[in-house]
Amino acid sequence: MTRAFNFSAGPAAMPLEVLQQAAAEMTDWHGSGMGVMEMSHRGKEFISIYEQAESDFRTLLQVPSHFKILFMQGGGIAENAIVPLNLSRGGVADFVVSGSWSQKSLKEAARYCTTKVAASSQSSGFKSLPAASSWQLDAHAQYVHLCTNETIHGVECHTLPDVKALGSNAPLVIDFSSHVLSRPVDWSRVGLAFGGAQKNIGPAGVTLVVVREDLLGHALPACPSAFDYKLVADHDSMYNTPPTYGIYMAGLTFQWIARQQEGHLSGVAALEQRNIAKAALLYHCIDNSQLYVNQVDVGCRSRMNIPFFLRGDDGQPLLDATHPRNAAFLEGAKARGLLQLKGHKSVGGMRASLYNAMPLEGVQALVEYLHDFEKAQA
Ligand SMILES: *Cc1c(COP(=O)(O)O)cnc(C)c1O
Repeated sequence: MTRAFNFSAGPAAMPLEVLQQAAAEMTDWHGSGMGVMEMSHRGKEFISIYEQAESDFRTLLQVPSHFKILFMQGGGIAENAIVPLNLSRGGVADFVVSGSWSQKSLKEAARYCTTKVAASSQSSGFKSLPAASSWQLDAHAQYVHLCTNETIHGVECHTLPDVKALGSNAPLVIDFSSHVLSRPVDWSRVGLAFGGAQKNIGPAGVTLVVVREDLLGHALPACPSAFDYKLVADHDSMYNTPPTYGIYMAGLTFQWIARQQEGHLSGVAALEQRNIAKAALLYHCIDNSQLYVNQVDVGCRSRMNIPFFLRGDDGQPLLDATHPRNAAFLEGAKARGLLQLKGHKSVGGMRASLYNAMPLEGVQALVEYLHDFEKAQA
């Protein structure tokens, strides 16, 4: 079997070991005589899968006991509504707008509460994260929203802000969809974190929500019951039928992460080291070339999603996706088994997503291709 290196931003590549284990267990899970998809979510077999997944995630990310871990549905986009429905109390919410995803969150929340833009990097084309010292936080805000990895623009927050030190009493809500489990989280600075599974965890269809207990129980009357965090927490994510197969796959990924080692490091710490090395390799290649360019401020470049442009003969980034050089680049990449490198349609260019499941060898193969393609242009 030949597996390509898949740089998709999501749904994205998963560890081969996880896929193979799922395949081996597809029709008969642990001698139960049934596959996971066919199990009642209330049976002891699935409950054991669920409990293991929840506890492994808690261990991997060191989630304190006063946070609930919820497995929900609807993805990050549904959370853009579910968060204000649960946390806003119809009042004010602050938003840091640092790319397409936080922009979407802001727009959706405005349907349920009063939104304020505490800071925005839109005027500079979302090439950086507004410095925390510049945020204008509202003293009465019910929460502060921050997307900690902007998947489309390739901007990552490398140190979580201490919003209390910035004069806010509101909990920080983070959208960590596209870098969850790629690095540790400082939970002392977070009230709620949410993320879809399809970037770094497993198949699409599961949304993880980690929420501090004191934030539960304040949903607006209009909040759908299935999206009321308190109801979901009180029912251990089984108020309605949860996405059972996705939770199982997420659980296998958590076990895979726990097995990862780099030197004396293991689990998320090991993956973080590997992710730093992978990203450094690709940025170094881009920065030292004449042909490629990444325009994100060095201090907030994402380790997970690396957008870049090819330059035209005039030296300018080729924004036009239909330019023959862009097409030739993608075609050549595909021929070498380097897949899904096309940038998001809203920004153009290319994007390499280097999630946990992307091995260093994949980035090395990409860098080799970047060199070869550049040489062939000269
Ligand atoms: C992918 C993504 C989302 C959207 O997830 P859906 O599952 O499509 O709702 C939200 N936020 C970020 C940062 C993402 O990368």
